[in-house]
Parts: sequence; structure tokens; C-alpha cells
Amino acid sequence: MSKHINPHQARRNFLKMSAAITAMVMTGGAASWLRAAELPHVTDSDATAKMLGYVEDATTTKDARYKTGSQCANCQLYAGNSTGYGPCQLFPGKSVSANGWCSAYMPKK
Ligand code: SF4
Repeated sequence: MSKHINPHQARRNFLKMSAAITAMVMTGGAASWLRAAELPHVTDSDATAKMLGYVEDATTTKDARYKTGSQCANCQLYAGNSTGYGPCQLFPGKSVSANGWCSAYMPKK
């Protein structure tokens, strides 16, 4: 005995499933964004920050390697928004300032 599939019911099921998947993706995306925003900020006392000469405001660095316009927001290792704070690959579990800079700066291509 074959099971009859009502096309209207199948369409309703598909739409329900699509809505559920969309909701999961959106809440997952929002959750990961919130986690990045909640990461503790790298401070001057951080050992890695000292080693790399990290500063929260790139324009305040005295490092001769600094080039005008360089900042975390346009560094390859930064994964945050262009303002505020975001994760940097060199500081796992912490966030750096979008306006920050360190000597490991690598311009985005
Ligand atoms: Fe900022 Fe790039 Fe240095 Fe990370 S590596 S602190 S993103 S300049």
C-alpha cells in the first residue's frame, strides 16, 4: 500500500522546515556576534599585548613600524566589525579594539 502525499501538506511542511532553519541560522549568527562582543578586551598588561606593542588607539603608538591608517579593523587577523571590539587571531578568547594596532599588523588584501 502506497502512502498518498498531499501536495498542500507537503508544501506546508516544507515552509515550516524552511522557517525553522532560517530561525536557527539567524539566532546562531546573532549568538556568535554576541559572544565576540562579550569577549574581554585585551589590556596593556596582557603579556602578548606588551610583546607586540598593542595599543587600543593606533594613532598613539610610538612604534616606528606603524604606518598611518593601519588599524585592527583593516588587519587580516581581525574578525570583528569596523567599530568597537572584535576577535583577533593572536589573542584567542579576547577582543581587540577596531581602532587598535600591534606590530603583527597585516593589511587586508
Ligand atoms: Fe590588531 Fe592585527 Fe595586531 Fe590583531 S594582529 S592586534 S588585529 S593589528
